[in-house]
Amino acid sequence: DASHRHAVFGHPIAHSLSPQIHRAFAAQTGIDATYDAIDAPPHTFAALLETYRENGGGGANVTLPLKRQAYELCAHVSDYAARSGVVNTLEPLPHGAWRGHNTDGPGLIADLAERHRIDVRDRDLLLLGAGGAAQGVAFALLDAGVRSLTIANRSPERADALADRIGLPGRVHVRYWNDLATSGSWNFVVNGTSAGVEGGELDLPFAILAPRALCYDLSYGKAATGFLAWAHAAGAGQALDGLGMLVEQAAEAWAIWHGSRPDTLPVYEALRARLDGA
Ligand code: NDP
Repeated sequence: DASHRHAVFGHPIAHSLSPQIHRAFAAQTGIDATYDAIDAPPHTFAALLETYRENGGGGANVTLPLKRQAYELCAHVSDYAARSGVVNTLEPLPHGAWRGHNTDGPGLIADLAERHRIDVRDRDLLLLGAGGAAQGVAFALLDAGVRSLTIANRSPERADALADRIGLPGRVHVRYWNDLATSGSWNFVVNGTSAGVEGGELDLPFAILAPRALCYDLSYGKAATGFLAWAHAAGAGQALDGLGMLVEQAAEAWAIWHGSRPDTLPVYEALRARLDGA
């Protein structure tokens, strides 16, 4: 069945865990679905997606650095994707068109609330990064009730653009990355940068962490080790990686394509065991 052929597009994509996750959902639900990883440098993405669709491809995921581009090529977008301005899940519509969704934000909230039993209400959040992932989660965290959101991005104009997009002056602030050491402290810090993926160092001051703060890295595996080690050294109360979010955002996408949410616990536990054993 054509609608049971799925793929994730990104660049780089070789280390994506999405194929494993979706194949596990297929096995669990008995739906005969396939899921490929397609390497798509930005200038090739639109053409590759069209070819994929012509060859019978159905629902697809999009990862870095293509989430904004994906948003722009959708004929329709969900309300949440429209607010965030980025799309990570494509739902096929008739005549080759796509409806765009963003499941990153709901995936993060599901991981925090259901797996870790963490309530983000009344936390002051520092969000590092303003790329596709940061945009995807900012609105969800505000909806979930964080008291304030401060955005710091290496390129300040992108942080300003995200803050402008959100609105909410008084609750949403921007800080220069280089001024973080003297900008205050936060009891919730989310790393939404791709520094770890690219092998870079964030070089964050310890002073930004309030005592017993919650730290969450959207990335996972080797890419998350630098930030999580920093968080422990800086005295974080809890330091979590984004593996749970990855599985939850995948389950949200699966539900859009197939109508029901798979059980994420066994899939998460198998991946966690594999990552920890590696
Ligand atoms: P983008 O390419 O859209 O954005 C990258 C962001 O990282 C930008 O804000 C960029 O800043 C910043 N950045 C990159 N390198 C550095 C550095 N050395 N120092 C400081 N900032 C840096 O990527 P995404 O937003 O799509 O992805 C970001 C991360 O989130 C990835 O690690 C990805 O794996 C993870 N992710 C995890 C998900 C999950 O389900 N767990 C879901 C989605 C993403 P600038 O604007 O200055 O370039």
